[in-house]
Amino acid sequence: MNLKQLDDKTLVFNLQNKVRLEPKTGLDIIEYIEEVFRRRLFSDYHCKSINAFCIKILGYSPAEAARKINACRLIQDIPEAKKMIGTGDINQTIASNFQSFINNENKYRTNPIAITEKKTILNELKGKSCNEAERLLAEKSQAPQKPTHETKKKIKNNRVSIHFTMDESEYEQLTEKMEEFGASSIEELFIKMRKALDTKKEIRKYSKKKPDNIKSRNVPAMVKRKVFARDKNKCVICGSKRNLELDHITPISVGGLTVESNLRITCKFCNTRNAIVFLGQNKMNRFINR
Ligand SMILES: [Zn+2]
Repeated sequence: MNLKQLDDKTLVFNLQNKVRLEPKTGLDIIEYIEEVFRRRLFSDYHCKSINAFCIKILGYSPAEAARKINACRLIQDIPEAKKMIGTGDINQTIASNFQSFINNENKYRTNPIAITEKKTILNELKGKSCNEAERLLAEKSQAPQKPTHETKKKIKNNRVSIHFTMDESEYEQLTEKMEEFGASSIEELFIKMRKALDTKKEIRKYSKKKPDNIKSRNVPAMVKRKVFARDKNKCVICGSKRNLELDHITPISVGGLTVESNLRITCKFCNTRNAIVFLGQNKMNRFINR
């Protein structure tokens, strides 16, 4: 069945039924979730993200929701993975762990992990148990070991004691910064760096003054502040406080103005969903990235 041809309601109805009857390796559920994400349809259900949709509307646990979404990303990236999940060559947990591995490697490697390497690793994962797969991925990883959990404890006189470990070379670089900032301890360095950042932000804020133009897409800082305050710093559709954007209620492309009454706060996803409803999926596809 081509999911792209289903209407919004049928898509979600079918998906909910499939979740109820789900066998452990249900590949088509992942395909349905992928389609819900492509349409940003979770916004219609007042969900802040596809993750929230999986938990609230489909009833998954947070861990299961994360597994599904990771598996979804993997098959978008490597279509071969779809077949392998379908035939049971790799299970969804391994698919999900592999996607987390890719995300993590991409953060640390100079170049993103190449598609050929992804495919090679995917083939090596074939038929492995979860433990074996975990060991294999650990061997392939070039990312530094994860830092140990950071602990924080309140002590006397409104002070907190923080304990964490870090890479030795990072520590050396920090001690070099101590000299640059005239700090005599790491604590003093952090405080001075924080102050320097705040000053930099202030300078940027006041050096950007431009004349107001209500036909421009740029929203003057004053208007922006008013709209954010009016909408209480959250998405007016789903209530999310993350990835907030200023949305032109009547789009600029059809004559909407950059004035307070034509602006509202939405999250990135609700904004995209509106655009899909307003302009159509086909027009929006080129702006929708994963
Ligand atoms: Zn939203």
